[in-house]
This record gives sequence, C-alpha cells and structure tokens, in this order.
Amino acid sequence: MKRLRVAITGLTSCSGCQLALLNCEAELPQLLELVDFRFFPMACSPATLESDYDAALVEGCLSMPHEQELLLSLRKRSRYLVAVGTCAAWGGVAALKNDQDREQLRQQVYGTDSTAALETFSPLPLNAVVQVDATVTGCPPEKEELIGLLTGLLKGSLPTLISYPVCTECRMKETLCLLTERSALCLGPLTLGGCGALCPALGVPCEGCRGPVPEANLAEAMEIYLQKGYAQEAACERLRRFCPGWRA
Ligand code: SF4
Ligand code: SF4
Repeated sequence: MKRLRVAITGLTSCSGCQLALLNCEAELPQLLELVDFRFFPMACSPATLESDYDAALVEGCLSMPHEQELLLSLRKRSRYLVAVGTCAAWGGVAALKNDQDREQLRQQVYGTDSTAALETFSPLPLNAVVQVDATVTGCPPEKEELIGLLTGLLKGSLPTLISYPVCTECRMKETLCLLTERSALCLGPLTLGGCGALCPALGVPCEGCRGPVPEANLAEAMEIYLQKGYAQEAACERLRRFCPGWRA
C-alpha cells in the first residue's frame, strides 16, 4: 500500500495537539509503516515544503502573517486540509481577547518598546482564511481521534464532526450529572462530545473545551443554569473561553 504523504504543523498554539499524536507511542511504529510524515517540524529534522501532500494537519489558530502564508501554501499543496484541535477549529484561547483593543494588548505584553513586538493580527480559526475539509476538535483531541483521522485518510475518508453533546456520553457511561445533582456549572449540554465525558467522569464539570454543539438545546440548558442560580452570561462567557466568537 502506498504510504500516506502527510504534513503536520502548528500555528499559534501550545503544540498540545501535535504532542497528543507524538504521545501515541504504542501505535507510532505501525503508523510509520503506513504514513510518511514528510513535513512535521515538531518531530522531524528541518524540512522544507514539498510539492504535494495527501493531507495537511494543522494545529492552532492564525495570528501572524507568516502563518497565513504557510497555511495558504499547505492548502495549495494538499488534497485535504484538516483543522486539528479547538484553536484551529474555533480560535481557542488565543482569540479570547479579540474584542479588546489590539494596541492596548500590545502595550500590555511588550510595553512601550514597539521594536520588540511581533507582527500579529486578531487570531482567526483556519476556516476564516482557507477551505477546511475536516475538523477534529478537542484541547487536545483524544488519541483515538488522531489515529482514526490518519487511518481514515489512508482509506480516503474524512472524519465527521460529532453532533451530540458531552451529556450524551455521561448518560452512556451512567455518570452522575454534576449540573442537576451537584448544581455545578457544567457546560456539557452545550459542548461537542467525543471525549467520553472525561471531566464529569472524574467529578469535574465540563469546561467546554471541544467547542459548541451546533444544535444544542440552548433554551433548556439556560433554563437549568438559571434554576441552579447561574446567570446565563456566566455559561456563555465560559464557553467563549474556547470558542471566542460564540454567541448564544
Ligand atoms: S455532568 Fe455535565 S456533561 Fe454530564 S450530564 Fe451533567 S451536565 Fe451533562
Ligand atoms: S468534558 Fe468538557 S472540558 Fe472535559 S475534555 Fe470533554 S469537552 Fe473538554
């Protein structure tokens, strides 16, 4: 079988999604037989971009001109471009302050010395600039999702974004509901599933790290938050930590 030619890179991000893939230590030897990681600066010796890839996996959001150039170049060279992780999908924590004045932010970070400042713009998710063929969300995505992405690509198929909320996975695991039983501000009803309701299973409310469910029953969720004594805005603000552009 022909090995899959893949480019993997990170833009503005913590590199956690790429690290999640590198942490698949047990599976990597087998993956290497099937996948040719042609461009993966975090893991391999310096490489330059080549003429074409079967797929480009991009972590992080866009906030610098050179990142935009790299993304456009990868888009041109790759059959599929996949947004990997919450920052690439929604902007993530880097976009948290997008509604604040950029000059003020620059001064807070770099002081008055303008020569030290990097050239940046308000962080954007990848689909604001290029066509994204598939998204694997998560902060970081689950290991199984990354391996599934690569093995699916080998067969020429792309993953589809899960459409149910974290609550569904709590129900499947019979996890105690932290919102209804413990009155905790859990964002599970509004958040995309796929993590196996990891946090509630450990007794920790969901923080919304996988981004919003497009067809969440917002009215019902807000009603419960109100009943539990939380202002609707408190839930919205929390969800915007990972998806800054989200509006109820
Ligand atoms: S604990 Fe959170 S995610 Fe789980 S069912 Fe309750 S509200 Fe939903
Ligand atoms: S439970 Fe919520 S915060 Fe925890 S990993 Fe899943 S989506 Fe992220």
